[in-house]
Amino acid sequence: MAATEEELELLRKELVGMKEESEKQGELVRALKGKKVEKKEIEEAVEVLMKLKLEVQTKEKELVAKVGSDGGKSSNKETFRQQLNDTLTNRLFFIPAFKIYGGVAGLYDYGPPGCAVKANVLALWRQHYVLEESMLEIDCPCVTPEVVLKASGHVDKFTDFMVKDEKTGMCYRADHLLKDYCNEALEKDPLLTAEKRQELKGVLSTLDELDAQQLGAKIKEYNITAPDSKNPVSDPYPFNLMFKTSIGPAGNSIGYLRPETAQGIFVNFSKLYYYNGNKLPFAAAQIGQAFRNEIAPRQGLLRVREFTLAEIEHFVDPEDKSHPKFKDVADLQFLLYPRKEQLAMEKPVKTRIGDAVSQGIVNNETLGYFIARTYLFLKSLGIDEERLRFRQHLPNEMAHYASDCWDAEVECSYGWIEVTGLADRSAFDLKAHSDKSNEDLTAFEKYPKSKEVERLKVTPHLKLLGPAFKKDADTVGKALLAMAEEEALAMKAKLDADGQAPLEICTTGKTFTIKKEQVSISKEKVVETGRRFTPAVIEPSFGIGRIIYCMYEHCFYTRPSKSGDEQLSVFKFPPIVAPIKCTVFPLMQNEKLNDVAKRLSVDLTRAGVANKIDITGTSIGKRYARTDELGVPFAITVDFESLDAEREDATLRERDSRAQVRIPLEEIATVVRDISEGRLAWVDVLSKYPHVAPSHED
Ligand code: AMP
Repeated sequence: MAATEEELELLRKELVGMKEESEKQGELVRALKGKKVEKKEIEEAVEVLMKLKLEVQTKEKELVAKVGSDGGKSSNKETFRQQLNDTLTNRLFFIPAFKIYGGVAGLYDYGPPGCAVKANVLALWRQHYVLEESMLEIDCPCVTPEVVLKASGHVDKFTDFMVKDEKTGMCYRADHLLKDYCNEALEKDPLLTAEKRQELKGVLSTLDELDAQQLGAKIKEYNITAPDSKNPVSDPYPFNLMFKTSIGPAGNSIGYLRPETAQGIFVNFSKLYYYNGNKLPFAAAQIGQAFRNEIAPRQGLLRVREFTLAEIEHFVDPEDKSHPKFKDVADLQFLLYPRKEQLAMEKPVKTRIGDAVSQGIVNNETLGYFIARTYLFLKSLGIDEERLRFRQHLPNEMAHYASDCWDAEVECSYGWIEVTGLADRSAFDLKAHSDKSNEDLTAFEKYPKSKEVERLKVTPHLKLLGPAFKKDADTVGKALLAMAEEEALAMKAKLDADGQAPLEICTTGKTFTIKKEQVSISKEKVVETGRRFTPAVIEPSFGIGRIIYCMYEHCFYTRPSKSGDEQLSVFKFPPIVAPIKCTVFPLMQNEKLNDVAKRLSVDLTRAGVANKIDITGTSIGKRYARTDELGVPFAITVDFESLDAEREDATLRERDSRAQVRIPLEEIATVVRDISEGRLAWVDVLSKYPHVAPSHED
């Protein structure tokens, strides 16, 4: 029987008490020896000490055994993962790329069922987001000139902290070393005290917040060494994850393989805005490959160096982030893990998204809308909602310009994995590209009637800025002009009070000190026909490979074969994502049965149903097992009754229940199409057609 966490904690407390007692006894023995008391007295004290030590050892063994018997959770996980990965690679869902040359870490090929699953997931994504929300889909190049990624901040800041083995030079991700250390200690060290466990859990929950110095300090404090050699590691330092290349034959034009698809959308903002009739809000979407030179690719498809991203950039008025369709999702309830609960080390809470937005836990309706839609999307793929949560970023984890960020995380055998990031990035991206390119990337809201308004006028005095800021003068001048009204008013108050004020430039992170005489800030009346502003952007970003892997985990199970001596693998994919929707079998090798099966397969293809015909002489049970292993939800079997002119029907078997019905041959393709596309449920099929005891056994 697995010990509960409370039982383990009780044992640990007992052990601590016993150790204290044993130490006290040890001190007593030492003291007695020092006092030259009678030998007998010392011998009696030593005897007590030995007894206590023995009790401590026994208790330690008991604790180790109890922790070892964690219900077999960790070894179950390993076995589960091994079975899953064997099935995935044997059936070519995915395989290591370039394997005949030894392969490359973090690069994978998708085989036939993997490609079909990916195409289905992307088709569903397009249906769920692009079509249902009338998004503008675009497709941009992967090779991106340096200037674009300089403006976006990727050239300077798209880094992870790396440490090197001081002797072998092997590279590791600093946060991964710390995470593995904490997880291993928590899982495997039974003697950890409650305080230590709490401390390590605290480190894990704030891992993404740590800077290089803090990571380095923890690595030193815990004496963490290189996992392969146990050598000491260097201090953490930033490593840029982008693959660099050069564009053109001269080699002097630097480019990068894009690390995300979003920048292609931002640089096209004004064209898309025009295409949309100069109206906000609107969203653009892009599906494509992204490239990240990960320091330590691991966990199969979860951390790779090339992967498919599906990204949405929803442009919205920063002063109105309401969403017209929010009411349609407001009642949905699912696991939210807000900042407050994380910091208090509490559990995620099932929350109504409408309440999360109205209570300000989620910053605005549009962000809440996308969180809810993402919950629906992931659920429709077969992700178990009890193992899906939306975790809010901790303050330091979030970029300084972002208003609010949430990650959709799925629990799988590797722990909780981020599969989708949902961020309100404010106006940062468009402002950054506008500053660098000098292109107007703003939107204009025309008022129904012109109006006279009092406006704050900011006039930078360039003659004074030049000598004061030299090469930065132009940037400072532009930043002063770009200040929002609130910001400018705060600066005016500070200039009036202190004679100087700081000006932070968000795109570079630099701060300048502005003197009172260098800028005039005053109010004046102007007639305005509308207002011009830089739109804010809300960005849901989907890692398709991660989503697919988590879906594989959540859909995979094994069940005993009929004889009971084998465990058969099954993927319970929802029909919509299954790589093949239906297999067609003649019950046995027979020309007449084959002919009917071939005709049905053609009917299915014509109805747009991905199907596979299997006319091998293998037993029907084995053929069912083979299709279950590919997650094929339906199988048609043509038997001798199908040839009966009176009947002309065949059996249709559902994968998970293994229930079978008989359906007329001319209807069967349409029925399979409708259940595969979600227009008909299996229960409806069961109630409409005669349910038969399987004549040909599984
Ligand atoms: P990010 O831009 O880092 O927020 O990443 C967006 C999404 O891409 C994440 O939610 C992940 O699903 C996915 N992702 C990021 N890095 C990788 C990687 N190395 N391998 C696979 N998927 C990734």
